[in-house]
Amino acid sequence: MRPQCLFPLFAPITALPGVGPRLAPLYERLLGSKVVDLLWHLPTSVVDRRCSPRLNDAPPGQVATVTVRVEAHFPGDGPRRPYRVRVSDETGFAHLVFFHGREDWLRHQLPEGEIRIVSGLVEHFNNEINFPHPDHIVPPERKAEVMVIEQVYPLTAGLTQRPLAKAAAAALARAPELPEWQDPAWLARQSWPSWRTALLAVHRPDDAGALNPDSPPRRRLAYDELLATQLALALVRANLRRQKGRSLAAPAGVMRAKVMAALPFQLTGAQSRAVSEIDSDMAEPLRMLRLLQGDVGSGKTVVALLAMLTAIEAGAQAALMAPTEILARQHLATLSPLAEAAGIRLALLTGRDKGKAREKLLASLAEGDIDLLIGTHALFQEDVVFRELGLAVIDEQHRFGVHQRLDLAAKGFAVDMLVMTATPIPRTLLLSAYGDMDASRLDEKPPGRQPIDTRVVPLTRLDEMVAAVGRAVNGGARVYWVCPLVEESEQLDLAAAEARHQTLTEQFGERVGLIHGRMKGSARDAVMERFAAGDIDILVATTVIEVGVNVPEATIMVVEHAERFGLAQLHQLRGRVGRGSGRSTCLLLYGHPLGEVAKARLEILRATEDGFVIAEEDLRLRGGGEILGTRQSGLPEFHLADLDRHGDLLEIARDDSRLILDRDPELTGPRSEALRVLLYLFERDAAIRTLRSG
Ligand code: ADP
Ligand code: MG
Repeated sequence: MRPQCLFPLFAPITALPGVGPRLAPLYERLLGSKVVDLLWHLPTSVVDRRCSPRLNDAPPGQVATVTVRVEAHFPGDGPRRPYRVRVSDETGFAHLVFFHGREDWLRHQLPEGEIRIVSGLVEHFNNEINFPHPDHIVPPERKAEVMVIEQVYPLTAGLTQRPLAKAAAAALARAPELPEWQDPAWLARQSWPSWRTALLAVHRPDDAGALNPDSPPRRRLAYDELLATQLALALVRANLRRQKGRSLAAPAGVMRAKVMAALPFQLTGAQSRAVSEIDSDMAEPLRMLRLLQGDVGSGKTVVALLAMLTAIEAGAQAALMAPTEILARQHLATLSPLAEAAGIRLALLTGRDKGKAREKLLASLAEGDIDLLIGTHALFQEDVVFRELGLAVIDEQHRFGVHQRLDLAAKGFAVDMLVMTATPIPRTLLLSAYGDMDASRLDEKPPGRQPIDTRVVPLTRLDEMVAAVGRAVNGGARVYWVCPLVEESEQLDLAAAEARHQTLTEQFGERVGLIHGRMKGSARDAVMERFAAGDIDILVATTVIEVGVNVPEATIMVVEHAERFGLAQLHQLRGRVGRGSGRSTCLLLYGHPLGEVAKARLEILRATEDGFVIAEEDLRLRGGGEILGTRQSGLPEFHLADLDRHGDLLEIARDDSRLILDRDPELTGPRSEALRVLLYLFERDAAIRTLRSG
């Protein structure tokens, strides 16, 4: 149960003054729907309104607060002649300028003959002093209110500074003193303020200094968030460790030997290393939770198969879950001949399986007649029951949420889990997302791969590129053509892809296909199969092909508006080609204008094919939050911590949480009440439920 002291912070944001039904959706889009979300919405800069000069001394280009008498109104007549109000003091006069000014409102705010305090940006225009759209106009008795350092919050369309600041102030007023969860000695050493003091310092800064990510209050808040995350991860992990696992080992390795003999290649060094790391985890009587990271094409599948064979030879069943139907089918196709060589029984279960066939399959699964079940999220359905699931492998993990992983684990007694991802996750992000999760890296490509010729080309040269693609197709090439990602609109994504499909069809006729996320699974598979079989030469796609599809004959990847994609995503897309022995090309077409950072990003892709290098560079250029498009990636989003600036705190938070749980595994000691408040504050309460004393 959430501690009572936090109730006011978890009230809906509409409980705050000024946040009515009209603004609530805007707040929700910008920052969230609870009061606490406003606390995490930090100002990004300040405006110092303390400069209070006479009119004639008002410094152009700066913000000033002046005391003036309203002289006269000059209503405007359109954009060229804005509404002007002449004001003066004993040193001179100035004009307040309003484009689209509403006369009744302005006359009400600025009655002729009255004294007003006006605060805003000073401009000199035609030797006159102007205040274009002053930020504040108040009567003299409210001068003290205006002459302050004012914080500036990030906004969204339709939501302005003033109401947001007011709501934030109200949220702050609800923030209680909370028990101190940090170690007192550590706090003192860092000279950090208490949580509430830190929060007030960043929301009501004395100067821009408090907003610096390196300032003590900012670091304190960042550390709170990192500690909450790391502690939650440590709790989940400790819980997994506490549940007894089973030891899965196949000392004879008969099945494995058969498969190795059937493979047309030798394992790479990285693959062998990963296999033995997994082997020793599985042999332990604990639950394995290991991440297998490897670039597209690094050969994760065979590593997974070898692990699953160990589980099967040890008498258990294995499951392999893929994020899409196409991928599940592809796994079935590649694994079938190897399974046959090993003498194991393989089956596929997807959302398309229904009725009798499905019942029959589930019955043999429960009987133990199926050794290895491949599938999509259909594996989660409640009536899918294994006789004895020993190992669950989850492919392309970033498509699945954490709870789904746990669901699959819940299907078997002490299931070992191997989570595979083709998204190279930089070390700091890995730590922030998974804490101490064990990870194996496939950082070596199978031999014989040709480098991909990557070119960065402006979209203005589209016609030229289409012609080149046409020549390549006539020479027998197969081409992926990926269409721009249009933000937040699958509909528009699709429209762009359909339009491109049409123009290419006009040019190349029947050889052009289209695949997108709105298509039915079966229709999508059919198109994919035609492309794999060579009935289609050019496959126009939205990003549905991003994950794992294998067509070794495809040698050209065209990405339109490459600048709109994340680097990691582009890297994944490029990985669709260069899979066979043919020489491959990747054309990254960009739209104008391209900013410096965007240019630098595309340049990285041109320069290297090493996914880990690309991920680190992307992190450096864009910051942790954006790198993988955090929302889809399943990585946690931080509100207060910035991994670029607070990376040093991340490791300390990990060590700190380890120490906390070493000393007090059930969180019952003296600091524990406060630590529980911390977990609830950052909504990591799911971790608390893993505690026996819940
Ligand atoms: P991913 O890591 O992207 O899942 P896959 O497992 O699909 O990669 O492997 C990509 C391709 O490389 C497959 O065709 C696979 O057979 C091949 N492959 C895997 N390991 C090796 C190896 N050691 N030597 C040569 N080819 C390999
Ligand atoms: Mg794969």
